[in-house]
Amino acid sequence: MTQYTNQSVRVRFAPSPTGELHLGGARTALFNWLFARSHNGTFLLRIEDTDKVRSKQNFVDQICESLNWMNCDWDEKLVYQSKRNDIYKKSIQKLLTSDNAYRCFCDKEELARIRGEREKAGLGYTYPGTCRSLTQNNIKVKLENNTLNVIRIKIPKGETKFSDSIYGEITVQNNELDDFIVARTDGSPTYNFTAVVDDNDMGITHIIRGEDHISNTPKQIILYNALGYGLPQFVHLPMILGPDKKRLSKRHGATGVQAFRDQGFLSSALVNYLALLGWNPGTEQELFRLEELIGEFSLERVLKKGAVFDIQKLEWVNQQTILKMKNEDILNSIHSINMLWGDSRYLDYLLSVIELMKPRCKTIIELMDSSDYFFDDPQEYDSKTMRKRWKTNEVNELIIYFMEVLKNIVTWTQENIEIELRKLSDIKELSPAKFIHPVRLAVSGAGAGPSLFHMMEVLGKDVCIRRLEKAVEILPIDHD
Ligand code: GLU
Repeated sequence: MTQYTNQSVRVRFAPSPTGELHLGGARTALFNWLFARSHNGTFLLRIEDTDKVRSKQNFVDQICESLNWMNCDWDEKLVYQSKRNDIYKKSIQKLLTSDNAYRCFCDKEELARIRGEREKAGLGYTYPGTCRSLTQNNIKVKLENNTLNVIRIKIPKGETKFSDSIYGEITVQNNELDDFIVARTDGSPTYNFTAVVDDNDMGITHIIRGEDHISNTPKQIILYNALGYGLPQFVHLPMILGPDKKRLSKRHGATGVQAFRDQGFLSSALVNYLALLGWNPGTEQELFRLEELIGEFSLERVLKKGAVFDIQKLEWVNQQTILKMKNEDILNSIHSINMLWGDSRYLDYLLSVIELMKPRCKTIIELMDSSDYFFDDPQEYDSKTMRKRWKTNEVNELIIYFMEVLKNIVTWTQENIEIELRKLSDIKELSPAKFIHPVRLAVSGAGAGPSLFHMMEVLGKDVCIRRLEKAVEILPIDHD
């Protein structure tokens, strides 16, 4: 593991804006951010938008929005690779001048022919270095004839070694590597090259990214050496897997950060859960506030094994987070999804609804969806409950009695409502359930929910009486 004592930590998240931010990217960003924050370091955001066709500004916006939502704030101005062409050109020139790169004029057909031959011989394709030995004169003539060319790195002989913070010593024989392209025929630089130039320019000390980039690392190290740059520490994070142990992807359902937000997951819960995906705090603790994560996080505890994404666990973390939150904060989260929720009601009423419903909800959306009856009289009644609990007109008689009792309650509290209901069930020599179920159906339309008495207190006397009267009028409904 690297020492960071005499060099302040600078890390970056470098997404390609060819899609929205997914869980994998979000976890990479979070680990970079936590590492920076826990070392008083700097977290940077770099947009890798050299692919002009697939990169879109709306994805940049979405990525930034998702990172902001997760509280992963970046410290310096956003870096766009598309604005750094002059810098890349200079470095390409440096590679050519120092004889670490060369122009390759092989055309597509020629390369396809070589590939075909090698494949026939059962060999993997690597560029054979045809243009490595062109003379200055050959090159001059081809350039004068405007022959299309790419720039390739000259892979040196020998081997490339590095020590990854998670995966340990990795050694690659250089003859397994291609003289890969650093600039295309239109002069545009490729990923491995721009990443190295930028990571050096931005003073990145630790490259924390997905394990899928391990195979790029030897190529990048060769570039670091060719350009005379010092090496950063490489830290590759294990992949996030789906339940089938295959790399998490769209096949496993929505994996975009915004989709989780829209499904009612809280940012602090998603961050808490993502932190545990591949990182082990070393204790039994599972619920962390952001400050606690910053305090506890260390790369030493990142696991090598791929971490399986478990939606039930995320839901559990979300539910626990909701339970711990202040009702005012839950309301703010609800309003960030739907500003109009509970629009016509007093703040105290909304906070009471939240207090009552939050123990029953895994997500904010579930809370919103299941609390409709606090705002509108039920338009329909749960048919299963109706068939079971309100079969005959005898129920109507019981409810009419109960309504009369309710009308006489002076102080409308859950305790008083309960006392009256129990008194009545004694008088009628019926179990309280004979009242509780139909009353719940009448006031909420639902067969289950939070404590009936508490719910009635929140709804208020007038609303409860009105809903009971209406139910008595239209129930039981005859279902054949
Ligand atoms: N743009 C690359 C990606 O999105 C970043 C790789 C890196 O962090 O070096 O995978």
